[in-house]
Amino acid sequence: MKTNKHRVSPSGAEDLDWDSADALQDVYLEYPILPLREVVVFPHMVSPLFIGRERSMRTIEAASALDHPLIAVTQRDFDKENPTPEDLYAVGTEITIERILHLPDGTANVLAQGHSRVRIVDFTQTHPYLMARATLTPDDFEETLSTKALMRAVLALFEKCVELNEDLPEDAYIAALNADEPGWLADLVASIMEFDVEKRQELLETFDPTERLERLSILLASELDLLELENKIHSRVQEEVDKSQREFFLREQMRAIQNELGETDPTTSDLKDLRAQIADSAMPDIVRKKAEKELHRLEGIPPASPEGGIIRTYLGWLVDLPWAKTTEDNTDIAHAISILHANHFGLRKAKERIVEHIAVRKLAPEKMRTPILCFVGPPGTGKTSLGRSIAQALGRNFVRVSLGGVRDEAEIRGHRRTYIGALPGRIIQTMRDAGSINPLFMLDEIDKLAYDFRGDPASALLEVLDPEQNNNFADHYLDVPYDLSKVMFITTANTLYPLSPALLDRMEVIDFPGYIEEEKLQIAKRFLIPRQIEEHGVRDHGIHFSDGAINKIIREYTLEAGVRNLEREIARICRKFARKIAEGKPVPHHTTASSLGRYLGPSKVTHLVAEDHNEIGVATGVAVTESGGDILSIEVTIMEGKGNLLLTGQLGEIMQESAQAALSYTRARAEKLGIANVDFDKIDIHIHVPEGAVPKDGPSAGITIATALISALLDRPVNREVGMTGEITLRGRVLPIGGLRQKAMAAYRAGLKTFLVPTKNRKDMVDIPRKVQRDLKFVFVERMDDVLPVALVQADNHPATN
Ligand code: ADP
Repeated sequence: MKTNKHRVSPSGAEDLDWDSADALQDVYLEYPILPLREVVVFPHMVSPLFIGRERSMRTIEAASALDHPLIAVTQRDFDKENPTPEDLYAVGTEITIERILHLPDGTANVLAQGHSRVRIVDFTQTHPYLMARATLTPDDFEETLSTKALMRAVLALFEKCVELNEDLPEDAYIAALNADEPGWLADLVASIMEFDVEKRQELLETFDPTERLERLSILLASELDLLELENKIHSRVQEEVDKSQREFFLREQMRAIQNELGETDPTTSDLKDLRAQIADSAMPDIVRKKAEKELHRLEGIPPASPEGGIIRTYLGWLVDLPWAKTTEDNTDIAHAISILHANHFGLRKAKERIVEHIAVRKLAPEKMRTPILCFVGPPGTGKTSLGRSIAQALGRNFVRVSLGGVRDEAEIRGHRRTYIGALPGRIIQTMRDAGSINPLFMLDEIDKLAYDFRGDPASALLEVLDPEQNNNFADHYLDVPYDLSKVMFITTANTLYPLSPALLDRMEVIDFPGYIEEEKLQIAKRFLIPRQIEEHGVRDHGIHFSDGAINKIIREYTLEAGVRNLEREIARICRKFARKIAEGKPVPHHTTASSLGRYLGPSKVTHLVAEDHNEIGVATGVAVTESGGDILSIEVTIMEGKGNLLLTGQLGEIMQESAQAALSYTRARAEKLGIANVDFDKIDIHIHVPEGAVPKDGPSAGITIATALISALLDRPVNREVGMTGEITLRGRVLPIGGLRQKAMAAYRAGLKTFLVPTKNRKDMVDIPRKVQRDLKFVFVERMDDVLPVALVQADNHPATN
């Protein structure tokens, strides 16, 4: 406002004191009016203006011709092309035009220097341009502490605004620092900030500098709030954009590398494949929903993330499992019979049961519940191979899983997916291998299922085998129900003793008691030898095993209920032949009993045959063991002592109780037995079971222990050709036992001549092969009194042979 050269009023006021604001207040000067659209020009500021309207051009031209300042005043309504005085605000800024740049189309860019606020008093002319009388209102201020504080506050706010708003010129803050008057500072900041026109005009119309600063600070503060918010949003958006851009960039790079390597993009093609596989799969709706949900999750996860891998594996399981695929059962009975006979010798009961099942299935295919069979018998008795044949006869897929040593429920039911490396349990894993929902599923060694603290695998197994529940079998990993109701389950066990009644209740037990020598001979001739010859590639060399050789292998190289070792020994011989043939050496066409030693070495079976001598205090028991039946010698020695009972060797807890019972019986019957002279308090009794496999059924050794004890006390030998089985009560009654067939066969194998059996077991004689019944004398005993006359060598026969 230091320049006053233009302050020549048309109404003649040249001699005014220009430096006195008060003096100017009441002086009305006449100015050409320059209406502005959307622009407010502030005092002191240089503003570029675009002049487009003809009337405005005329105003400027007139003012420049007279070298006269004009008043820039903003229109209320921007749309008015030719605003009337009412369309203009009443407060404007006195300006001088510093520079004009005429443009070819008649418009111009001008640079206007603002000087002072003016208030328009009245209009004096409207044509050809507006003229008005106005009064100058220069800032009037007193520097107080509060204006100083206000100035600082405005400066601080403004500094932040400049910092945050990239559109504001960086040196604006420096300029503001240099504005040392409050009004000037306010005008400077107001002209730089991008407030809307109303707000700018309001600031222009605020004559009091302090008040102007106050208003400005409010405006700045709210602007700052907005800017900060905007900035926050902006940086968040930027972060997201950066992240996704980075990912996009990396993915593009990967794609480019894969293209270079000639590989397809695994992520998209993999997901596409999975989607197609889920669509093609016959999974039920509930499973499909789950699969789609997981797939959706997978799509949102970076391909290389570990979680992606977990979901992929899970979806892989869902897709690979059979959900609806069934194989059609072949119910042709003649076909089934021919397959069962072609693959197996004997096993009449098992085969009959299967044929019955197929017959019922043929007549009532839908109604029938598939039975759960439990094949029980020693190893190598054809349980697994018969299972396979049944599957073949029915035309079902065959799968098998061993439960031996399974301790953890999770092995059957799987681990939840939250575990690292979780997988479905063995049932679901095996179902995937089966490829259909109705396979023949063999659960081997269910008697070897172990129990411990990690959940109860047996109860999981119960659920698998429960027709009421197994259509919704819950595997922890799968997390969706799986239908096992169409599966035909066959379980196998060596013995039934460890099985819980609940489990046994679900199953129909079929015994595989083991084979007698004649049966083994037939099995070897018809199945084992041809198969081994074939498998060893020695078929065309005319190899033949004589019956004598086979029998010798059975008797002297194997001692088993099944034929597993027999097959192994035959395989050994075939291996030796194969080597000879490969070396170009001649092979004997006939393998006879006498040539066996050359291939198999000296005979292996020396133990477990009946004792050579009739001995005092040694009785032969027959027991059921893991490998079928076995004989076991029980020895008793009497020594001077203090009435102790000593038990050693293969004695289980139950067998120890039997020993106690036998002793009590003997003491109670001492007189009758002829041992009344024995003072039990002065002797020690030592009972020992020397060798052989651990018997599974402890109590059945009762009468054997009693016999050995009485023999020792009476000093009378036991007949070495007599074997026995039976539980003893304190009163000397003989109670029935289990596994008679296994025991009878073991007795027969061991070469015993007489077999003492509880009378109550007479009903089981139907299971004993006729050959065994013929060659082994069965004596049925009800009381211990029946045992002793047969088992003990008669006094006049003593000493026995050898
Ligand atoms: P398990 O499952 O009872 O232990 P396997 O089924 O594995 O016994 O049988 C062992 C071997 O003996 C197999 O090679 C099987 O073919 C053969 N085998 C067993 N019993 C018979 C039989 N009755 N007829 C033909 N082969 C048999």
